[in-house]
Amino acid sequence: MNILILGSGGREHTFAWKIAQSPKCSQLFVAPGNSGTNTVATNVNISVTDFDAIKKLVLEKNIDMVVVGPEDPLVQGIHDYFLNDEEIKHISVIGPQKVAAQLEGSKEFAKEFLFRHNIPTAAYESFTKETVEKGYEFLETLKPPYVLKADGLAAGKGVVILNDLEEAKTELKSMLVDAKFGEASTKVVIEEFLDGIELSCFVLTDGEHYKILPTAKDYKRIGEGDTGLNTGGMGAVSPVPFATNEFLNKIENRIVKPTIEGFKKDNLPYVGFVFIGLIKVGDDPKVIEYNVRMGDPETEVVFPRLKNDLVEVLQAMANGTLNEIDIEIDERAATTIMLVSGGYPESYEKGKEITGIETIKDSIPFHAGAQVQNGKIITSGGRVMAITSYGDTYKEAIKKSYQNIEKLHFDKMYYRKDIGFDL
Ligand code: ATP
Repeated sequence: MNILILGSGGREHTFAWKIAQSPKCSQLFVAPGNSGTNTVATNVNISVTDFDAIKKLVLEKNIDMVVVGPEDPLVQGIHDYFLNDEEIKHISVIGPQKVAAQLEGSKEFAKEFLFRHNIPTAAYESFTKETVEKGYEFLETLKPPYVLKADGLAAGKGVVILNDLEEAKTELKSMLVDAKFGEASTKVVIEEFLDGIELSCFVLTDGEHYKILPTAKDYKRIGEGDTGLNTGGMGAVSPVPFATNEFLNKIENRIVKPTIEGFKKDNLPYVGFVFIGLIKVGDDPKVIEYNVRMGDPETEVVFPRLKNDLVEVLQAMANGTLNEIDIEIDERAATTIMLVSGGYPESYEKGKEITGIETIKDSIPFHAGAQVQNGKIITSGGRVMAITSYGDTYKEAIKKSYQNIEKLHFDKMYYRKDIGFDL
């Protein structure tokens, strides 16, 4: 079959790397892709939200399946766009329909879903410009730190955690009244602070059945020791050493099962990946967020551990036969370290040549913000490349990634040197 992957990050290179290994895949396209997807697929320079151009490509290249990497096209309704068009309605789209994508697109929607289905999560209330005074009163009833979340998508920047009550009130005002995050902060969710260690759980669903992929832990902050600004993710480890079988059972019974049941009860059509952001409070998992797609850089450690033919798995998701698939996981650990442009997540320079990639033999360099230009591979984004390694232990895998990073170079390259050290 012919497959189109939408996206251009390390996640999409990993999807392409895995799908290209399948004998079931004839032609593979990635839009817009990067210098990594270019090595295993054909890149097409189309934006992930240009649905008309995507339709044209799908018809031109006889695409049978579209795998959606990032959240934006899902939240904007790409799956519905296909279903509502006679010419392309038969094509499989991996990713939930718009109404279900609100689980990521609106934090209030996600909180209401969690509470309706008794899934453990932080207590919350939501407010608008009209109820800002009530928001101040609610903050006064809480203990610090105060967690304020813009309701809509804000590129990972819409969550603000503050220790001081007055600062929290000022922030609430700036989000609601001064539209700090534009449309995204027309509503704000104020949440109880949960104290614990975070991990991510990935679930595949065909809307009826589900399968759980390995857990992963990512490192969000730019600085070592989890300091500094939030990023898209600086590294990841899978499996998560503290996620014991007992804890994983709690995740499945208290969170995954009621989530999938909730989709059915609420008529949320969902064929795709559910990324559940969790926090371990004491010995219990609580949900921080849903994302309606795979994580990046978690995909770079989760998919390398998946032994199945990914195309077979995706087909089963699209056909509603996921129950017939046995997910097989590589026992080895996988880790990834993200190389970023100096200055990221604030301003940084692009266009720097990346050298040494061909010398890496026992790690997998997944390209992210990197493009081919005049035969050279140059940086084109903040997060440039994720270096994934296997190991009998996660420590061994991390060591391998760090050794291979030594062979790579680009001007102002930066990476965290403590990924996995806290585990
Ligand atoms: P991202 O896109 O980076 O995943 P987001 O903008 O979708 O983030 P959340 O995942 O809800 O927002 O929150 C971002 C981060 O804020 C979490 O990963 C977590 O570290 C912290 N956080 C969110 N909610 C809470 C909470 N109730 N208690 C403690 N920390 C929280």
